[in-house]
Amino acid sequence: MAKIYLSPALHGSDNPTLCPQKCSENTHCGQYMDIVEKRLKALGFEVKRGGPATGTAAMYKRVEESNAWGADLHYVAHTNAGGGRYSMTMCWNDSVNKKAANVLHKHRKTVPTTHKVVTNKDLYEIRATVAVCLYDELIFHDHAGDCEWFHKNMAAMAEDTVRAMCELHGVPYAEPEEEKPEEKKVTSATLYKEPLYVSSTAKTAAGTKSGTAYLWSEEIVNGRVRITTDVKYVGVAGMVTGWVNAKAFSNSSQAVVSPKAGQQVKLTLCPLYISSTATKRSGLKSGTYYLYDGKKVNGRYRITNSKANVGKAVTGWIDAKYVK
Ligand SMILES: [Zn+2]
Ligand SMILES: [Zn+2]
Repeated sequence: MAKIYLSPALHGSDNPTLCPQKCSENTHCGQYMDIVEKRLKALGFEVKRGGPATGTAAMYKRVEESNAWGADLHYVAHTNAGGGRYSMTMCWNDSVNKKAANVLHKHRKTVPTTHKVVTNKDLYEIRATVAVCLYDELIFHDHAGDCEWFHKNMAAMAEDTVRAMCELHGVPYAEPEEEKPEEKKVTSATLYKEPLYVSSTAKTAAGTKSGTAYLWSEEIVNGRVRITTDVKYVGVAGMVTGWVNAKAFSNSSQAVVSPKAGQQVKLTLCPLYISSTATKRSGLKSGTYYLYDGKKVNGRYRITNSKANVGKAVTGWIDAKYVK
């Protein structure tokens, strides 16, 4: 498996940034590299990470380690200063290194403004590494907007980098591991002419309720519980049918439900994304859609446009909160 040497910024005299919280160039480059490292390992790459020496010592030590290890790629991540507003990958000026940098450029879709490839013959890590070296200046840390953007998007930026490394080394790319499906505990009971109240305190019933009812919430208030008419309305704001005596649920049954392939979802101007990690939506969707496979990845589900397309064709990704 391809060997990737990771070299996050570790300045001897760390650079201040304009991040919304207490931060520094070394701090946020380290956080970004943590994500890259975790994902590369999950995909099977061999990974070595530079440290703990700082500054010039780190630079020499890292190049020495990278060369001795026989890295296939030496990847450096810093953030920039000087008043610019772009993301940049620097590399040695030869066809092999430029080709690699352009693969990263192709995948570097998550940027605050633009991304460019620039050749460099001066930086020690670029000129002294035997492996291809890609030297990222991810954002400008002297631009407050870019700093805030970086902290919100560094995971997606790291994922772009991982995609590029997969392409460079012929490793099949896979989305991050799916998360545990969201589970909802559902309590139902069959009611027969059960007095239905508009509130927990109403003295007289507004009507009666017969048939299957679901607990909207487990909470009991003044001896009463809220009910709703369908599993999908459990816990959903605005979907309380009314209040009944808690005793009506003394013979209730419980089930655990989680989103399933083919489950219908009704959307109203719901943001659609091209991947589980994309930060920019590709459009807004309204109407009836279906869960493609019911598997949550990075807090999103795949949807499809017809029952026939469940498990066959993906329309795009939506945030889990829109799956009710
Ligand atoms: Zn920061
Ligand atoms: Zn730096």
